Amino acid sequence: MKVAVVLFTRDLRVHDNPALSAAARAAERVVPLFVHDPALPAGDNRRRFLLECLTDLKASLRQRGADLVELRGDPATEAVRVAKAVGAEGIGVAADVSGYARDRERRLERACADERIALKTFPGVTVVPPGAVRPGSGGGEHYKVFTPYWRAWQAQRWRDVEGAPRKLRLPDDLPASWFKDRPAPTGGESAARRRLTAWLPQLEGYEDNHDAMAADKTSRLSPYLHFGCLSPREVAARVDGHPGAEPFVRQLCWRDFYHQVLFAFPDLRRKAYRASAEEHWRDESDALQAWREGHTGVPIVDAGMRQLLAEGWMHNRARLITASYLTKHLNVDWRAGGDHFFDLLLDGDVANNYGNWQWVAGTGNDTKPYRRFNPIRQAHRFDPVGDYVRRYVPELADVEGKAVHEPWNLPEPPPGYPAPLKL
Ligand code: FAD
Repeated sequence: MKVAVVLFTRDLRVHDNPALSAAARAAERVVPLFVHDPALPAGDNRRRFLLECLTDLKASLRQRGADLVELRGDPATEAVRVAKAVGAEGIGVAADVSGYARDRERRLERACADERIALKTFPGVTVVPPGAVRPGSGGGEHYKVFTPYWRAWQAQRWRDVEGAPRKLRLPDDLPASWFKDRPAPTGGESAARRRLTAWLPQLEGYEDNHDAMAADKTSRLSPYLHFGCLSPREVAARVDGHPGAEPFVRQLCWRDFYHQVLFAFPDLRRKAYRASAEEHWRDESDALQAWREGHTGVPIVDAGMRQLLAEGWMHNRARLITASYLTKHLNVDWRAGGDHFFDLLLDGDVANNYGNWQWVAGTGNDTKPYRRFNPIRQAHRFDPVGDYVRRYVPELADVEGKAVHEPWNLPEPPPGYPAPLKL
């Protein structure tokens, strides 16, 4: 093949990128393309991170002799327009699971067929492609419960990890307006690879420390995994054989699990996954607003919500506590909470966000749908001396030790901090 276009979407990396590697092998010249789609929902945090990822990807492609073409519009239309302009015979793209991504792929398929351009999809968004492991022998089925999925997932033969292409050649004379320059990034593949390498020594303590909220010992790789700056398959390979790897790999499996759930149930964002789930939500707009702003009067909940506002990220244990408080204590619809998270999270991801929200709300894959986290007990267990709360709630910064979790028991209420919402 003389020329191929690689349409980057949520695989913003050169290492272990099957679509890019295949194009580099099959074509003499490769056009790496990203299309900014105004129709794609993303909050400001994620938009900024995306730009950083693209700046880094561009630098990596340049090091290899190519560059990144960046256009704006509908990715299917633009990819085909570029392919025609450069005389490409094929377009490669990573297969993905959300309704938005699948619709994009279908449009691309039609546009390619009209122009007689070959379209090829590649794995890479998950460790194991959704649908590659299925329960029993029945076709069309996906795993509804995590543990059997985890067993089948571990028993799979995973695809080999691909190295980064050494050399890429662009076609000559591409229009200068197709290329953008930006300042240096913190998002992106280079930062992701540095983060992974720096974090690996902590893997051994992961099982014991991942729930310690103040210690902040999880990998913080989620935004990089969301944008595909890191290949989940390669991450699984990098940790393989390290002491303590299994509990961490299990988390990567949760990620694959929710991706195959979304693939099978595209309405995950709006519809209860369990058809029999009872949904009786209260219309509590004031409570929802207090929760969003971190002013519920329950310190561990407020700390989590303020971490989200400050960093565009929240510790997993805090996500569980804040989501459970909203749905099980305030009885507010999980969709409202999920949308707020999705708007602010750097790692905001349809499969992981709404899959987890439904798990917590009891409408999803949890095998104990009536589970309800007691926020005060959770606070004492996972933030035993209160450092996490003091870090994010300045009104409570002077309250010492675990007393910070129950300010209503203090002799004097801390100035500026609200009393708990009435339930
Ligand atoms: P680590 O503990 O280091 O885990 C490594 C990787 O495993 C993560 O980066 C992530 O890709 C994956 N992972 C870990 N826990 C889960 C999980 N429960 N479900 C799926 N994948 C997991 N994660 C997102 O990536 N995007 C979201 O939008 C998102 N929304 C969430 C909403 C709620 C209500 C809850 C309870 C969890 C949500 N999670 C989401 C899952 C989890 O909280 C984050 O993946 C994790 O906190 C990211 O931090 P980390 O990279 O340090 O994780």
